[in-house]
Formats: sequence, C-alpha cells, structure tokens
Amino acid sequence: MTSAPTLVLDGRFARELPELALPWQAAETPEPRVLALNEPLAAELGLDPGWLRGDGVGLLTGTHLPEGATPVAQAYAGHQFGGYSPRLGDGRALLLGEVVDASGRLRDLHLKGSGRTPFSRGGDGLAAVGPMLREYVVSEAMHALGIPTTRSLAVVATGRPVQRETVLPGAVLARVASSHLRVGTFQYARATDDLDLLRRLADHAIARHHHGAADAEHPHLALFQSVVAAQAALVAEWMLVGFVHGVMNTDNMTISGETIDYGPCAFMDAFDPATVYSSIDTGGRYAFGNQPVVAEWNLARFAEAILPLLADDQDAAVAVAVEALGAFRDLYSAAWSTGMRSKLGLPADVDAAEASSLVTDLVALVQGDHVDHTSFFRSLGAAARGDADPARGMFLDLSGFDAWTARWLALGPDADAMDRTNPVYVPRNHLVEEALAAATDGDLAPLDRLLEAVSAPYDERPGLERYAEPAPDSFGAYTTFCGT
Ligand code: AMP
Ligand code: MG
Repeated sequence: MTSAPTLVLDGRFARELPELALPWQAAETPEPRVLALNEPLAAELGLDPGWLRGDGVGLLTGTHLPEGATPVAQAYAGHQFGGYSPRLGDGRALLLGEVVDASGRLRDLHLKGSGRTPFSRGGDGLAAVGPMLREYVVSEAMHALGIPTTRSLAVVATGRPVQRETVLPGAVLARVASSHLRVGTFQYARATDDLDLLRRLADHAIARHHHGAADAEHPHLALFQSVVAAQAALVAEWMLVGFVHGVMNTDNMTISGETIDYGPCAFMDAFDPATVYSSIDTGGRYAFGNQPVVAEWNLARFAEAILPLLADDQDAAVAVAVEALGAFRDLYSAAWSTGMRSKLGLPADVDAAEASSLVTDLVALVQGDHVDHTSFFRSLGAAARGDADPARGMFLDLSGFDAWTARWLALGPDADAMDRTNPVYVPRNHLVEEALAAATDGDLAPLDRLLEAVSAPYDERPGLERYAEPAPDSFGAYTTFCGT
C-alpha cells in the first residue's frame, strides 16, 4: 500500500522574511528515478516511502507540490575564501517549505540541483548524480556518528544530462534541515541597511533554534552567544572524527549549528593538520587543522552583521561582540578535550593536566608517523582490552608508542566506552569514490553497501572488513572538486 500524505508545507520563512525569499519553481525532470531514499527520515516526516518512490516522486524533485506550497530561492551573501560576495543565494536550490515532523519539530524541506534561479549567475542550476550522492552518504554518516547535520531524504536522477568536464547524469537532492539560515543570510540582511529586516531575521533564528535567547535580558546578544557555543561544539566534533568540511565559507555555516553543504568534504586518513582535499583550496585556508580558527573568523563576520542589534552605539556593540566571541576558544577547547578524554576512555578521576599531557603526546606521535586516524582510535579499544598489537603495528616509533601506551593503560581506560565513541566505519574517500562511480554508471549496489556500513558506524560487523580499512596505496593522493 502506498498513500499520498496529507503533507502540509508551510511557508514561514517566506512569510516572515519576504525580502530574503524569491518565489520560484523547480525545473521539470524528464525521467525521474529514485536512486536513494531515506526511509526512516521519510517516516519522521510522515511520508510513505512507497508513495515517494512512485506517484510522490514529484515532491522530491519539486515538480508536484501540495496545494498552497510556496517554494522560494533564499537570498544570502557570504565570504568565500575570505572575499566578500554580496549576492550568492540559492543558485541551484529551493526551499520547498517547512514540515512539522513526528516529534513536533519544524524542519525545512529543500532541494539542490532543481534548476536555474535568479541567483544562478553563470551556473546552470543543476547538479550531477555523483556529488548529490556524496552529500547523501556523508551527511547520513555524520548523522549516524551523532554530529549535528542537515539530513538527506532522497537523491532522484532527473534524466537530464549535466555538462561538467564531461557529460554526467543529473540529479536532485532532497535535503532536510532544522533551517537554512546561514551566517551569509545575516550578512545579506545587514547589507540591505534595513534594520527591521535584520531584527526580524534574528527573531526568526531565535524562535527556530535558540529559544533560550528569547528570555534573556538581551536576546540578540544571547543569540550570538548561543551560535558561538553551537559552532564551537560542532567544529570540535569534526576535529574529533577527522572530518574536513573543505569549503567553510560564511554562506556554508549555519545558525542552527548543523553541518551544511557537503561539497569537497572528506574524512582524513593519515593524521595531519595540514590535510586539504579540495582542488580549489590551494592556500590551505580550510585545512583540517585550521577549521576552529576559520569557524571563529566566520563568527566574527556574523557579529559584524548583527552589530546594530547588539547596542545602539557602535563602539559599545563592538565591545560586546568581542567579549562574546572571546568565549569561542574556551568552549571549543573544552569540547575537544572532553571528546579526546572520551576517545581515550579515560575515567572521570583522571585529572585535567594528566589527560592533557597524554593527549598532546599522542597527537605528536600519530602526526609523526602519519597514522590512520579512524583505525588508530578504534584499535585503542582492543589495546585497552589487552591487545595492543593492531595499534602498535601502525607506528614506526615503537618505543614512543610503547611508552605512551603504558602511561595510558595505567589510567584504566574503559574499552566499551571507547567503542561507543571511536567509529569503525567512516565514509572513506576511496569507498565513496568507488560507490559514486558505480552509481553514475547505473550500479547502486556499492552505494547501498557503503550506506549500510556508515549508518551504524560503531557496530563492527563481519563481512564489512574492507569498509574499516585505510585506502590501498594504489588509491594515491586524494583530491575533491568544488563547483559540483
Ligand atoms: P556552494 O559552493 O555549493 O556553497 O555554492 C556557492 C554558491 O554558488 C551558491 O550561491 C550556489 O547556489 C551557487 N552555485 C553552485 N553551483 C551552482 C550551479 N551549478 N548553478 C548555479 N549556482 C550554483
Ligand atoms: Mg553553499
């Protein structure tokens, strides 16, 4: 049985912030075909997967929407690689509207690859199957890892070819997010010089994400503090799991604290703060180890955008913003240190100074020997149970490893807790490439298998051994491409 839902797509963003919402329609799709469908997520939204695969596919491509829906292209600005672009916006995306999910949460239903809009500039408004499936796999892996992220509902092949370096099959990604408010949304509103718009945007963000701020003595300052805290926590999670976002422009940083816009992203293999995968990040601005500093820089741009809301007098507003932004480093460090303690299974009674020196020495060791980040931390679980050989086998500096391990084991690490913190499976670059190449050629089996592995990342299962292993040397140096 498949049934059409009584789906209500609200237009709250468009209603409250019409200056930032351009009503627009998705392009027709000649031959839609569902390549990936997230059935648990569909259920959360009250959508029947059978219907979505059949008569309902037009919801996933934006071509058949429930009555009353008002799809819009959202306006935003942004600093891209440090340079300001006053008008970016949804050049190949649409917000279809907001849905109340099964637990009463308001969530955006959004499309990527849905055709040209007035924000497209030189672009074709389209997306290819490979990059949309990449976002699907990596965002769902992030979700399964417990990291705040936008979700992927579906990827639908459109039947329309897309011209890139070669001709590729086109696709639309249906994405679900707690909202699509970005730092760049505030930059755009600020640049209009319309203080009322800026205030409405801030109030909309408070209502949707940072409810506590509404009751604060100074709600807009509390909003800023809350976003600083959410981003500090988010970026700490990325660093702990070895995630490189790749394009942390201010238009790709959310107000909600969810990871967004999976473009040239990748999971780091060998531990190295200088790791960069994106072909366009030639200066290493968005290298793995730079991500906390970049997040802080982006938050400074957010502060500038909302300055008029922080105090009437500009100097006073700057002082307030600087002080609030000052919390970022401590919040980030605390989140990262707590996360590292948990990755090492350290009992609560180990004191902070001891944990900190242990972590510092470990980072030097794994960096020195270019140890695979994911498999090393996972292998520490076995080491805590008495089998240090798999971890030891990753090092050249054996005496360094042995000395560190003896110190660590003396603290009584909790192996079971570590196995709940250190994933076995992340979407490794060679596996993602293999799955996307096969899917682009019409074979979805490798994609489904990879999704099976990364959807339960802490649960080691027989038959999935190769999903836990680093890339073979033959895979070579990895590069991801933007402009997807
Ligand atoms: P991104 O790098 O995906 O965050 O995108 C940055 C900006 O470029 C956004 O305004 C996008 O809407 C726009 N953009 C990216 N790809 C395309 C495309 N194929 N056609 C039109 N606009 C695009
Ligand atoms: Mg973007």
